[in-house]
Amino acid sequence: MSFCYCGKLAADRVAWTDANAGRRFKNCVDGSSGCRYFQWVDGPLCSRAQIVIPGLLRNMRGMESKYEQQIVEVQKREARKWRFRVVVVCLFWFVVYVLSGSDKQ
Ligand SMILES: [Zn+2]
Repeated sequence: MSFCYCGKLAADRVAWTDANAGRRFKNCVDGSSGCRYFQWVDGPLCSRAQIVIPGLLRNMRGMESKYEQQIVEVQKREARKWRFRVVVVCLFWFVVYVLSGSDKQ
């Protein structure tokens, strides 16, 4: 446990910058207090990890973005299918109504 300069229990955080991707650190829980406490928990990343991890993160974010776009496309496709089904059912009942009216004459 460590405490910041204002005496509060320091918050556990994770850096996601390219140079420190996934590296844990502690700082003040109250970001607006002006407390400048900062302490790395993990040692620095090796030069290879500083290249590989940001690349993996970019790939992961790109895949997440594509996945979200695919979800939106599937939702739009489902909405079109439902609109089409509603139109078909309405047309069916309209035809039934028209045909039943023509039988009475
Ligand atoms: Zn503090």
